[in-house]
Amino acid sequence: SESENLKERYKELSVVDELTGLYNRRFFFPEAQAILTRAMRYEQSFSIMVIDVDHFKEVNDSYGHMAGDYVLEDLSRLLAKQVRDADILCRFGGEEFMMLLPDTDEKGCMELAEKVRKSMENTQFQTPQGPLKKTLSVGVALFPGDGGGFWNIVKQADLALYQAKEQGRNRTLMYNTSMQGETPES
Ligand code: GH3
Ligand code: MG
Ligand code: MG
Repeated sequence: SESENLKERYKELSVVDELTGLYNRRFFFPEAQAILTRAMRYEQSFSIMVIDVDHFKEVNDSYGHMAGDYVLEDLSRLLAKQVRDADILCRFGGEEFMMLLPDTDEKGCMELAEKVRKSMENTQFQTPQGPLKKTLSVGVALFPGDGGGFWNIVKQADLALYQAKEQGRNRTLMYNTSMQGETPES
């Protein structure tokens, strides 16, 4: 019906993720562009962090999809608690989150990434099916890096994440030029 179409349209226009209340990727890109422009103008650095839950599929498989949703909501609160006012946090899709840290260098970003990763490691999620623990892998990339636009930085963070998974998960890796090739999703 028409009113249903309208509802659907509003949902599409929305920049807030329904499940977690975090921003979604529609919010992310214009914000990211603005941060990049500012960083270039004022010759500041900024960092990008891609955060992905390790073996999240197991949560759905063993505890059910509702427990999976529950963990995502809880994790979102945990992430939101760790970001500063100027930082942009969004749910990029599924069990993947993105953080943009304006005016933050390698040291600052790696510190925050490790803080986030460790807090996840130390968290026990309560679900109706019982308690469970999960870990995170984190990929980090920096501006200015080795050139390229914003997409290049996102891609670099993704490559670092892929390496973190390859090396055994539950770890944070910073992009470096030896991480070449395609990620599975690209
Ligand atoms: P990896 O360590 O390699 O990241 O393994 P993974 O299992 O986390 O990765 P994979 O991409 O294979 O699986 C992601 C799973 O996340 C599959 C999908 O069903 C689940 N998922 C994505 N979005 C949601 C959601 O909103 N709710 C629930 N419950 N599950 C979701
Ligand atoms: Mg995952
Ligand atoms: Mg994923």
